[in-house]
Amino acid sequence: MKVFDLIIIGGGPIGLCCAIEAQKAGLDYVVLEKGVLVNSLYNFPSNMTFFSTSKLLEIGGVPFISHADKPTRSESLEYFRRVAESWKLCLNLYEEVLSMETADGQYLIHTSKDRYRSHKVIVATGFYDTPRLLNIPGEELPKVKHFYDEVHPYVGQKVVIVGAGNSACDVALETYHKGAEVTMVVRKEQIKPTVKYWIRPNIENRIKEGSIKAHFNSQLKEIRPHSVLIDGPEGPFELANDFVLAMTGYKPNYDLLARLGISWTDDDKKIPAKDLESLASNLPGVYVAGVLAGGMLTSKFFIENTRVHAQMIIRQIVEEQPAAAAGPFRGQR
Ligand code: FAD
Repeated sequence: MKVFDLIIIGGGPIGLCCAIEAQKAGLDYVVLEKGVLVNSLYNFPSNMTFFSTSKLLEIGGVPFISHADKPTRSESLEYFRRVAESWKLCLNLYEEVLSMETADGQYLIHTSKDRYRSHKVIVATGFYDTPRLLNIPGEELPKVKHFYDEVHPYVGQKVVIVGAGNSACDVALETYHKGAEVTMVVRKEQIKPTVKYWIRPNIENRIKEGSIKAHFNSQLKEIRPHSVLIDGPEGPFELANDFVLAMTGYKPNYDLLARLGISWTDDDKKIPAKDLESLASNLPGVYVAGVLAGGMLTSKFFIENTRVHAQMIIRQIVEEQPAAAAGPFRGQR
């Protein structure tokens, strides 16, 4: 079986960034991506606009030109497709990594299609696959969505939105503007202070004028086919309801990390890197990159501030190699 210098798990923006740096360093690598190219971005809401400017999303020196300063999801899909094409990146799409084991000082990776051996591994699997669940009765009903796609299904419907972060506020505004009857259920006493400065006044004013109803210091207790049960400061009450959009955020796939043999800190942050300077994991030669590196601190890590992970990791991989080898790992096969 061929032994790669490096396997990159995850073909998101940061996985691609790692692939570009690996290619520049002459490493023999492949990216294994379980879905389409930049799968998370593909699954973002159809009409979303990034909060970053296109300049701050650029990778590999490829210019990102968008119509406005902040690009749309579809512009980002075209951009990252062009990045992969212009760098001729080595990508295996629709190939899910299932588990990993050590074998003779190398890593043996099992996927949905094949097996691979590699000296080094970068895990850049993001967090958009695993929603933070409400864990309440009725959450399994088809009217409950943890991923929001587009507004049309909610026109004229009674919609409950759980959460008070950027996504919850965005979805509340979009569904309200297209004619849904929107009620937000918010655990704390206010909209999250971290909500972007151009969204926050808009949502707060809609709530103040009563266009969007909001129950603060409240929690959803149960979801029923045609109603929900909310527990608020004045006690529990039932509200007629057609859809629940649980915009409560996402978290890394810790089941997958466990199957790879990667551990994480045992505090609330659950960070899978030993430290954020080296991005090394508990396994020698295995690194974590991108938003995954932040564990549960998902609102602190973005494409913007994790693009640098690629250079940080590849530099270490190259430095660890014997100087005598023709290429970074050449001669070891
Ligand atoms: P991801 O893009 O999530 O890539 C991980 C990849 O790994 C995915 O393609 C996934 O399919 C793949 N994968 C997972 N498991 C496996 C497996 N077992 N085998 C193989 N492949 C696997 N950041 C910004 O900088 N600016 C923004 O404006 C911005 N807007 C955002 C808007 C939304 C709605 C969300 C949710 C996030 C936003 N972010 C933004 C945050 C961050 O940019 C994204 O989460 C970004 O996708 C992170 O890049 P990544 O490469 O680390 O992870």
